[in-house]
Amino acid sequence: MIDTIKHHSTLPTAIIGGGPVGLAAAAHLVLANQPFILFETGKIVGHNLLDWGHVQLFSPWQYNLDKAAKTLLQQSNWQAPDDKVLPFGAEIVRDYLQPLANLPQIKPHIRLNAQVIQVGRKGLDKMTTKNREQYPFVLRVRQGEVYQRYEAKAVIDASGTWQNPNPIGSGGVSALNEENCREHLFYGIPDVLGIHRERFANKSVAVVGGGHSAINSLLDLNKLRAAFPATQLHWVLRKKDIKQVYGGKENDGLRARGALGKRIEKLVEAKKVHIHTPFYIDEIALNAQKKITMKDTEGKILEGIQEIVVNTGARPDFSFLREVRYTSDTALESVPSLANLIDPNIHSCGTVRPHGERELRQPEKGFYIVGAKSYGRAPTFLMTTGYEQVRSVVAALTGDWKAAKEVKLELPETGVCSTELPLVPTTTCFGVGQEQPTASSKKC
Ligand SMILES: Cc1cc2nc3c(=O)[nH]c(=O)nc-3n(C[C@H](O)[C@H](O)[C@H](O)COP(=O)(O)OP(=O)(O)OC[C@H]3O[C@@H](n4cnc5c(N)ncnc54)[C@H](O)[C@@H]3O)c2cc1C
Repeated sequence: MIDTIKHHSTLPTAIIGGGPVGLAAAAHLVLANQPFILFETGKIVGHNLLDWGHVQLFSPWQYNLDKAAKTLLQQSNWQAPDDKVLPFGAEIVRDYLQPLANLPQIKPHIRLNAQVIQVGRKGLDKMTTKNREQYPFVLRVRQGEVYQRYEAKAVIDASGTWQNPNPIGSGGVSALNEENCREHLFYGIPDVLGIHRERFANKSVAVVGGGHSAINSLLDLNKLRAAFPATQLHWVLRKKDIKQVYGGKENDGLRARGALGKRIEKLVEAKKVHIHTPFYIDEIALNAQKKITMKDTEGKILEGIQEIVVNTGARPDFSFLREVRYTSDTALESVPSLANLIDPNIHSCGTVRPHGERELRQPEKGFYIVGAKSYGRAPTFLMTTGYEQVRSVVAALTGDWKAAKEVKLELPETGVCSTELPLVPTTTCFGVGQEQPTASSKKC
């Protein structure tokens, strides 16, 4: 065991996930001249983004690039995208993440088709405290049919949440018969104008959920209807009032996000979508004619549905962290100290104070949850927040505590996203980039 301790500091930092935040962590480690190894479940980096590659982002390129990544890319023959343009998910992968992953300083340290299935301390069980931080981490990784073990001095978990969608059941528990209807349930945002066109054309489609994903699905389905007029749209939500979904509209600092709210409002007012709200899905059933009936907890019924798009959010997967001492907020499953800043009960958008290593620190020294996963179930994460997280975490891992503490975010004011939420105490609600709340940021 002495030997284990001696070699600890020369080991790489392990990064779990090759999304924008995991790769940004890699870029920061390169600039800090630190060894790392990055594991990605998918065949290529940006695996989750490709799943919604046809969706246009609401933040322009200027907010989607990490600074360290940009520095490295600019040393190659990379063509920087136009700052003001809103890219699609697939373009983020093609024009940014793949070129980044292909850089000679990064490529040799990426393992693709590599799913981390267990993390722990080498030779030390979870209960043992003495000298714990001196033992390396050990990661068990499934690479195809092969299981490998890797050692690391620190672990940055940037594994996101998109791959773990919530069920259709309104309480977070699968609806009765959910499994039996799988063939007609689409978890995610279908590419209805592309590869999923046949599945949805001229069908009676129900979109379930009240967030941006549901809005994106409905807006695309409405476009599909222009070519296939028999397509029918139903929107099933838990919210009491549909207006709660529209968000900050013109007040949203990210204009394209505000525009989503305005576009869906227009669609609803034109009565192009059948609204079912509040509807707490409890049970679904498929009949012999392949039509689905949805039943809510109070017995309300919605019949004749042929396809359901499930946009009920996603949740973090902690199963592979069983041997690590981590904490998460009991409600949001976010990193605990972020919960107050992002709780959807009081915030409607990305209002989060700049934060870094200190807020992200876990009981297990050298272990961090970052990126979309750090927000747990809260749907408001922005890439730029994650970039600042990993800049600070990497600074701490390299011993630069001054840089780790100096956290700042450069985002437009997003403190006023929804005007429908009640006023909340100013201490929990202020705009991105503000150290202190202001009068204009009381509603958020
Ligand atoms: C439809 C949609 C639109 C969005 N639009 C914007 C926007 O406009 N602007 C913005 O700033 N943000 C936006 N976001 C939010 C957020 O920035 C993105 O979700 C972003 O992809 C989060 O980055 P991430 O690196 O934290 O996680 P992800 O991109 O989800 O990456 C996680 C990676 O980890 C891998 N992985 C998971 N588990 C394991 C494992 N056990 N082992 C190895 N690898 C694993 C996954 O395959 C994945 O590649 C949007 C999100 C969605 C869903």
